[in-house]
Amino acid sequence: MTVRNAAIYCRISHDREGRALGVAKQEEDCRALAERLGWEVGHVFVDNDLSASVHGKKPRPGFEDMIRRVEAGEFNAVLAWSTSRLTRRPMEHERLIPLFWERKIPISTVKAGDIDYTTARGRSRARDDARRDAEEAEETSERVERDVQRRAEAGEFHGGHLPFGIDADREIIRGKVKYVRFRHHTTDAPRVRDAARRLLAGETVYGIAKDFGMQPRTLKRAITNPAIAGLREYNGQFYPTPWEPIVDREDWERVCEILSDPSRRTSETNQRKYMLSGLVYCHCGNRMTSTSAKRTEGPTYECSPTKTGGGCGRARIVMRPLEEYIAEQVFTRLDSPDLREAMARESGGVDDKERELRKAVMDDEQRLVELANERDDNLIGEAEYRRRRARLTDRLEANRMTLERTTRKRARTNPPPGAELRAVWADKGSVWKRTILASIIERIDIGPHPVNPDTGRLFTSAPPRRKGEDHEAWRKRFDLHRARVFASRVYVTWLV
Ligand SMILES: [Zn+2]
Repeated sequence: MTVRNAAIYCRISHDREGRALGVAKQEEDCRALAERLGWEVGHVFVDNDLSASVHGKKPRPGFEDMIRRVEAGEFNAVLAWSTSRLTRRPMEHERLIPLFWERKIPISTVKAGDIDYTTARGRSRARDDARRDAEEAEETSERVERDVQRRAEAGEFHGGHLPFGIDADREIIRGKVKYVRFRHHTTDAPRVRDAARRLLAGETVYGIAKDFGMQPRTLKRAITNPAIAGLREYNGQFYPTPWEPIVDREDWERVCEILSDPSRRTSETNQRKYMLSGLVYCHCGNRMTSTSAKRTEGPTYECSPTKTGGGCGRARIVMRPLEEYIAEQVFTRLDSPDLREAMARESGGVDDKERELRKAVMDDEQRLVELANERDDNLIGEAEYRRRRARLTDRLEANRMTLERTTRKRARTNPPPGAELRAVWADKGSVWKRTILASIIERIDIGPHPVNPDTGRLFTSAPPRRKGEDHEAWRKRFDLHRARVFASRVYVTWLV
């Protein structure tokens, strides 16, 4: 009789059998079986908490190690608790068959008896078992998937961590801790809203995260999460969440778009540093990029043959004078009575609904204070206080959101008059200016540098000073010259 040196294989997994049977129990039963069969136990191979189902893609190091050592002739028998402990993948059986058949290596299981790869009948049974196991595993995963799908469609919370910006109460339902009564987090939700607003205004994740004392990566993850727009993604579809959106879906999508812009990722710290960043286009169609003050005339916008997809590389325009020129155009345009009238017609200004909302918010803020006073004076109990405060803050939050939406929309379609803007312009930073400009200007196209009709040569950026000409007179000529050049080169597409 052949002396059998057996390998024991144990696996614990997420399935019912795996959960019920510890590895220790599997090993104990296999050792008892080995004793009954008169086999020696050479080694115990263990894969812990891994799935060997048809969907399981995780490698099983214990299993692979065992097969390698069986191939090397170290063992001439295998013991497992059941066939499904050994493998649930039909493909794996096909891999084992030649090895075990050729070497006449028996496999014995505690639960299902022997797997006999050496006879046709045994192989057919092993294949049937594997097919049944695989079917069962597929059905289980289908059932799980259907359940997840149903819950997504019903707008239920998917479980796991609460998204950043969302708060909820914990309750024990049927022995499990569950989140109930979802609401906006009192400190994190305003941050999410603030971060989205500032990003859309051209600020960087880096700068905003620094203000919040957060890691940029954490902030980025938080504000690109569909959960903040009241959405949950499942199988490429969006479903509603059990909480109200913190930001508009449209804004959230724009935030995601901005943060996935590859040109932004490479130079996140200096993006949107200049007031016309991202608005200036070359006549070849390429977006012009800003260059730092390495030239004598100061920073410029240039058509780069390498950045932003590659342009003609032939256009360049000095930044500061262009900014001044554009600002002047904006002031003039915004002061045009025709335009103001048209815009007023379109936006309707502050309407009754907005006034009502503002009043409702102020009233509720006052009520919150009064409520706290009542509690402090023991006019109402703690439970009553909490209940009424929760109701108030819910309404307050919803009204604040609507209000913010309407005022923002009005700001977009109703910029301040030119004279007002001109008065504060010099004191404002480039981020502020860019926000204003981006709401007024769609794009600025820069034409080729014009040719002087008198000389047939390119206009130089500055006319030479005439003999005996004082600075002021020269400056006047210079400005006129530049205005002419800009008027022929710079074309603004207006949003308003
Ligand atoms: Zn170009």
